[in-house]
Amino acid sequence: MKVYKFGGASVKSADGVRNLRRIVDGEENLFIIVSAMGKTTNALESVFTHMQNRRKREAADEIKRIKEYHASIVDDLWGGHVEIEAVNRLFGELHDIAVDTVYRAADAELWYDTIVAYGELISTTIISEYLEFTGIRNRWIDMRAAFVTNQRHKDAYVNIKVSEPRLKAATENTGVGVFVGQGFIGAAPDGTTTTLGREGSDYSAAVAAYILDAESMSVWKDVDGVLNADPKIFKDAVKIDALNYLDTIELAYSGAQIIHPKTIKPLQNKNIPLYVRPFGDKSKPGTVINGEAEHVTLPILIYKRNQVLLTIRSRDFSFVMEEKFAVIFSLLDRFRIKTNLINNSAVDLSLCVEYSWHIDELIKALNDENFSVEKIDDVELLTIRNYTDELYDRYASDQDLLVRQSNPASVRVVLREAKF
Ligand code: ASP
Ligand code: MG
Repeated sequence: MKVYKFGGASVKSADGVRNLRRIVDGEENLFIIVSAMGKTTNALESVFTHMQNRRKREAADEIKRIKEYHASIVDDLWGGHVEIEAVNRLFGELHDIAVDTVYRAADAELWYDTIVAYGELISTTIISEYLEFTGIRNRWIDMRAAFVTNQRHKDAYVNIKVSEPRLKAATENTGVGVFVGQGFIGAAPDGTTTTLGREGSDYSAAVAAYILDAESMSVWKDVDGVLNADPKIFKDAVKIDALNYLDTIELAYSGAQIIHPKTIKPLQNKNIPLYVRPFGDKSKPGTVINGEAEHVTLPILIYKRNQVLLTIRSRDFSFVMEEKFAVIFSLLDRFRIKTNLINNSAVDLSLCVEYSWHIDELIKALNDENFSVEKIDDVELLTIRNYTDELYDRYASDQDLLVRQSNPASVRVVLREAKF
């Protein structure tokens, strides 16, 4: 079995879907994991925000736009107007949930997951039907039935032991060789839908590869492979031919948009190679990630926007030490806030965290624990691994720096607004 994962950008249009079909054509033992089409997850996040703010009309309008977007892809694929009943049913459910349900703030994450999961449910339904329509027999798999996760909405982990027999049962002795499942989603032990974290489809594919003992996993992307920097921001980005698992985890963790950070562990545990390949050209080799590749020594630039800098200080002026750290990090965990950089001095702790709608609640909880918190919104984090003085000067030295942290392997700076 091979596992292929197609991200949202690769299926954002009818051409993208036709291209997916070309890539999978002729494969006989294949599990395909697909993300939501294009920017659908972002659009569904807006539906959720409207629901949170009780804006029913706006939620309904946004759903209508999402529906029209998918309908135009379907019509193009089928070469004329068609209604896919299963797709209409999914849109009907989504509308009922987002517009006709009484929202309770205490269940924010649960509603978020329930709503955003429709992006993948809809994309996979369309793709499975299209493959069937064009002669590729396949089976649509509801990953909410296959993947049991922990009871943690918005950032769940798959419980592999419990999920293994389910996914195997769904794929064994079916007489079918091609399977289409959703990335990004699963279900908690209580049966409610969970999501695995934004961009989590890679992780879904890795877990499927692990359970199905896949010979390889491929991620088809709109780039030639893994590059050493985002080519949209940094000129001179170059492709890396091979990476080992450890370097890949480090890079993903620092925010490189290679692959979701949770993806590597399941693959590494069974030594399954991961190929990052350009969906525009199946003949290009892309980048291989495995256990054997040499450690990368070329500079790598990772730039993350949408960060918040929190400087936390104990009000009683005691040193921020272990027990205080424990309180602070358990609150970060409780509010699901992702920390990207930690910098501490004797009296304060600075955290560069991912923007989240829970930050003000976190600050309130920290205040209750007798910490004062200073917050700077909208900051950016630049990491240069294997840096040189020349690169540091070029990209970091002229910026409005708030934090600078370095070690022999990398330099990381938090800045107000990068001018590259
Ligand atoms: N559709 C989800 C997202 O955009 C998951 C993914 O793309 O991997 O975050
Ligand atoms: Mg996506």
